Amino acid sequence: MKFETTYKDNNYPIILKQNALAELKHYLKENEQNIVLIDQDVYRYHKDYIKEHLGQLDIKYLTIMSGEACKQLSYFESISEKLLSLNITRQSQLIAIGGGATGDFVGFLASTLLRGLDFIQIPTTLLAHDSAIGGKVGINASVGKNLIGAFHRPQAVIYDLKFLDTLPHVEVRSGYGEIYKHAILNGEAEQHKLMDVYPSIKELVQLEDIASFLKMGIETKLKIVVEDEFEGGVRKHLNLGHTFGHGLEYLTKIAHGEAVMIGILFQKVINKNKSLYDNCDSIFIFINYLKELGYPLNIINQADIELIFDYMKKDKKNIGQTIQMVLQTGESSFTIESVSKDEVIKAFSELKALIND
Ligand code: NAD
Ligand code: ZN
Repeated sequence: MKFETTYKDNNYPIILKQNALAELKHYLKENEQNIVLIDQDVYRYHKDYIKEHLGQLDIKYLTIMSGEACKQLSYFESISEKLLSLNITRQSQLIAIGGGATGDFVGFLASTLLRGLDFIQIPTTLLAHDSAIGGKVGINASVGKNLIGAFHRPQAVIYDLKFLDTLPHVEVRSGYGEIYKHAILNGEAEQHKLMDVYPSIKELVQLEDIASFLKMGIETKLKIVVEDEFEGGVRKHLNLGHTFGHGLEYLTKIAHGEAVMIGILFQKVINKNKSLYDNCDSIFIFINYLKELGYPLNIINQADIELIFDYMKKDKKNIGQTIQMVLQTGESSFTIESVSKDEVIKAFSELKALIND
């Protein structure tokens, strides 16, 4: 399928299908340099497939460090120098092939080199349905993730489902966390659909019908981002599950979307305690579902809530000393509320008891 973003202007196409890679040729710049920067692991897995589709085209290739490792300032410097030594011009184009980390890194290179180059995103993970949309690009600083960045929209997103064949289970679960988050932002019906199609990890890793759910996730994110590109209001709802999730991810090093899914669970407990939306039954059903999918809930037993809380306090979306969390108030209504340390600690010990039940 092919659809377009829905910004007021400067829209770009999103192509989402098997063998979408073959479409890249229509987006290359003629008589200019087109440079692919590809996650080295993705290259290793898919070298033959890439050659088959892109072998005839005039493209340069640069393999880059896989995953999050590329999002470092020192690496940004070395790849910037390398690209500049290729005599790129303002008309050159970068093409990112990889997961969200690759897209963030290459997008940031594109936003800064020569004050801005065009770039194309070719996502290879489920999670990247989230990161490839919305125009945020960036790298990490030693004090926190994504603190050095820019807003820079791609020229096109070419989402080839073929790449997903080699995704490890942990990355499937991680991406599914963000898909599920988008379903929550959409309302109950989407969540039920997901639970019906993927009742356990066995069905999830088959990824049947995944294109329609990726489209749902992309459209949900787009709708919010178009309304609030620079995060003044409703875009904050995309942070659902992320306040606690980021703390847990940082301290335990579990995958981003797995931490987000556990963050959504934590949000549900806070929600119940504030009598906003969830109740014991809905939490119980959700915990069982996460167990069916194999989310690492046991990590909660090893996590130190004091350290998680300290990390939550550092979130760049906080105001003053209070923690701001996205909480659900109705089937598809959300609010941002201050949550106190006492409330966080109480919810955490409750969560521990619930998952060990
Ligand atoms: P990732 O790029 O780190 O990929 C995860 C792992 O999967 C890596 O080890 C990678 O080498 C491997 N991989 C990628 N594609 C593969 C494939 N097809 N087969 C086998 N292995 C493959 O991360 P991600 O989970 O895709 O995304 C997380 C990143 O996205 C984080 O850096 C996060 O900050 C960022 N992000 C950005 C935004 C945004 O709006 N810009 C939104 C959400 C997340
Ligand atoms: Zn996220």
